[in-house]
Amino acid sequence: MRDYKYIVEISRENKKLIGKLYNKKKGINSPETYTFCPTNLLCDLTIMNKNHYFKNDKNLQNMGYKTEYAFGKPIHIDKTENLYYYYPLAELIKDSILNNKKISIEELERIKLFFNINLNYSISLKENNPLYEKLNGKKDIKEFTYIPLEYGHCNINKIFEDNKTKSYKYIYKCDTLTEVIFSILHYLIINKYNKVRRCNHCEKLYFYQHSNSEFCNRKTPIKEYEHLECKQAVKNIKQLCKRRNKIIDEKIDNEYYHNLKKYRASWKKYKEIVNKEPTVEHLRQLATLTSKKYVKKHFYIDEN
Ligand SMILES: [Zn+2]
Repeated sequence: MRDYKYIVEISRENKKLIGKLYNKKKGINSPETYTFCPTNLLCDLTIMNKNHYFKNDKNLQNMGYKTEYAFGKPIHIDKTENLYYYYPLAELIKDSILNNKKISIEELERIKLFFNINLNYSISLKENNPLYEKLNGKKDIKEFTYIPLEYGHCNINKIFEDNKTKSYKYIYKCDTLTEVIFSILHYLIINKYNKVRRCNHCEKLYFYQHSNSEFCNRKTPIKEYEHLECKQAVKNIKQLCKRRNKIIDEKIDNEYYHNLKKYRASWKKYKEIVNKEPTVEHLRQLATLTSKKYVKKHFYIDEN
């Protein structure tokens, strides 16, 4: 049996996906464990960002790049094991993302053969521990346990259909970064995260499953909201602007009535733009319109 270096763990809990990449020897609790979002990661590969890749690895333009930045912390791509496969695989993924070419399960199989990928994975479903109720308090016992699905005797797809809402965990054993990247692609394709779109807020690309998906799971780039994911940040900023609008509208109505029509027209215009496309720029415009400084200068003014 081949030895392996990395473990990729992708878990889904309460509909949220979490990816972890760690060194087998160091374990999952090591400070070197990388936590990532599987639906964003392939769209964030260093190769997707031309400037980044030229800036950092100038001399390697023709051979690929030496460092992968997509995991949040840089990972060195080892020359002996990875250079030949990592770069063309990343390029292939880039091509499929940018040209919106869907990768089928059959194609996944072809890619696996072509890049000589050793695919070694297991799936576990999260189940209640039947002994928990009985032994809780008496023994140090976990409430849940992950039970691996057994291969060979049943259809994996069927099991998933029957357990749609259950939490689960995929564990991939990988020897190279090429296999790490392939594993993430494998997870996405077999779980039907096989379409790519731009987030309505941060405008970055991500893989999605359902056609009603509008936002990615990245954190917003807007300062003061950086702790929130795109969807929540949009919601909060819209609410803030609405609250401000109510106060401003009332004040103009009472004290600067001659400016009311003008203000309401601006509010309507920018609000509609935000409702349609809540991008960073559009939210900024709405926030500026409803800022103290702006209304003082443009609307809280007497007739001359
Ligand atoms: Zn986003």
